[in-house]
Amino acid sequence: MVQSVKPVPSIWCPGCGDFGVLAAVKKAAAELGIPPHEEVLVGGIGCSGSIHNFIEVNGIHALHGRLLAQAVGIKLANPKLTVIAAGGDGDGYAIGMGHFMHAFKKNASIVYIVMNNETYGLTKGQASPTSQLGFEGNVEHPFDAILTALSIPTPNFIARTFSGDPRTMTQVLVEALKFTKADRGFAFIEDLSPCVTYNDTFKEWRERVFDVSKAPGYDPTDRSTMFRICLETMHAGKIPIGVVHRPHEADPAAQALELKLLPDLLGPAVADIDLTTNMAAYEKLVKSAA
Ligand code: SF4
Repeated sequence: MVQSVKPVPSIWCPGCGDFGVLAAVKKAAAELGIPPHEEVLVGGIGCSGSIHNFIEVNGIHALHGRLLAQAVGIKLANPKLTVIAAGGDGDGYAIGMGHFMHAFKKNASIVYIVMNNETYGLTKGQASPTSQLGFEGNVEHPFDAILTALSIPTPNFIARTFSGDPRTMTQVLVEALKFTKADRGFAFIEDLSPCVTYNDTFKEWRERVFDVSKAPGYDPTDRSTMFRICLETMHAGKIPIGVVHRPHEADPAAQALELKLLPDLLGPAVADIDLTTNMAAYEKLVKSAA
């Protein structure tokens, strides 16, 4: 585990879209008054995954594609922590795809930010799961994380933002953090974060993004409506951004994983080092699952 209480200077290329996410994470934590020792940033593998080194939080650089498993584990160990997982599209949508799908189902109260630049920037610009047809010889259609997230019938918070609009990114992240701090479950944000070195899409994306809250009939509580709006936006050549799913306030099924599984262990794990207590809770959990 790396403790980044003293942040180091960023190693990102000047102008990288990931700077917008870094700024948003700092501003959102400040706005909500989250102290650094109560926030854990779990970084994936790739340029974006080093984000925890550049901010005053406790951080961990997770295994490739495994950041969600580690973030959920941290949340289970200490539900009072604010846990943010942050990585790239290659990390989250390729090797990490299994964890990605199940994170929506598990519904732990963590925030997951995917910085999507449609390439593997750290390894010099190969095609990733979100790359457009023809990019670096890519012959596959791009994966769309928002449509996939909408198709999983769990009451999660789902949004897409753009690093070219860091103010909105901050607002959406504040909303996502409030959602998780209220133990309402998993919050997913895909941030369009251009790689200015290997796939500079800033200009193109600035022209193509469309805020879905401006679409007629916008209703983020209605999954089918939002699926239709996103598809229509894409068919018109635009990229849907904004909050695409915000479940109803009172939904008992939305109760987060840590509250469902560990009602006897709420509280900082560090304060509970009695093995007997932990074993009793573990045995109870195993029996309830049998
Ligand atoms: Fe950002 Fe691309 Fe540079 Fe990586 S290679 S730091 S993704 S601009």
